[in-house]
Amino acid sequence: MLPPIASNFVAGEDAATAIDHVRDCNDDGVSAILNLLGEHYDRRAPADADARAYMDLIRDIDAAGVDACVSVKPSQIGLDVGDDAFRENLASIVEVGQEHDCFVWVDMEDHTTTDVTLDAFEEHARETDGDVGVCIQANLKRTAEDIERLAKLPGKVRLVKGAYDEPKSVAHKGSEDVDTAYRDLLEYAFEEFEDGVAVGSHDPAMLDYAADLNEEYGTPYEVQMLMGVRESAQRELAADGVPTYQYVPYGNKWFSYFYRRIRERKSNALFALRAVIGR
Ligand code: FAD
Repeated sequence: MLPPIASNFVAGEDAATAIDHVRDCNDDGVSAILNLLGEHYDRRAPADADARAYMDLIRDIDAAGVDACVSVKPSQIGLDVGDDAFRENLASIVEVGQEHDCFVWVDMEDHTTTDVTLDAFEEHARETDGDVGVCIQANLKRTAEDIERLAKLPGKVRLVKGAYDEPKSVAHKGSEDVDTAYRDLLEYAFEEFEDGVAVGSHDPAMLDYAADLNEEYGTPYEVQMLMGVRESAQRELAADGVPTYQYVPYGNKWFSYFYRRIRERKSNALFALRAVIGR
């Protein structure tokens, strides 16, 4: 069972509970991006099982009539087994997404996976005429070039700072350098992206900058934040008319995800603790 301390960051252990949480988000005007927790399977069977779980989830979202899409991790649906396993499972998920009018995001993992992830995204972005999205990471030096490739494609792009500890040879390491890269990429996206920009950040400075760029270029944008992080800001943005998405993880593999949230920020630990002791 999900302990109360983890339930600030993880919506529950099964799809039905997660969809209940999505209803609460939707009541506040916030849309949801559902993510079944799991990654780095080195055998095909669990990767196929999670791919099937995503297909069921898409059907459940449709049946429940909630405002939600899904986001999948390549290594969760077979990338560590082989490129073919990943691409076959992603194709099946996107196909079911098309049948149920459900947008499919692909998360980005470490830099060794960027090429295959972007290639798979490109294939489905063209095939579906833009009903898929992909995440790119400002901390990777290559993203300055990748974003030019993505600007020519249909589909959506989520810009994040990057969650993986990458080697210096491929990544900006200092937070100031990452922030500078994030701003440059954001500006490029607002200038060049026809399908809008997804700002995946909790950083007030980046969100203000996105609002300024939206005013300057008129390009539509959405904000995406994690469940349990700056939720009042999520509600305020939505009330101000900015399309706002909460990334909602769920599933029984919640421990490592919860532990990452707690390790990355002391305030997350205090927030989780306060919720448990009721203060
Ligand atoms: P940070 O640089 O961490 O923080 C900047 C400022 O934001 C802080 O000073 C503070 O003012 C505010 N802030 C941040 N966290 C909190 C908090 N807990 N409480 C209060 N204020 C806070 N990474 C990937 O590598 N691949 C992915 O596919 C991916 N998908 C993501 C999807 C979404 C929707 C989001 C939001 C993030 C995703 N990430 C992903 C993670 C991302 O790369 C960053 O690691 C993470 O978002 C932290 O960076 P940040 O921009 O929020 O700001």
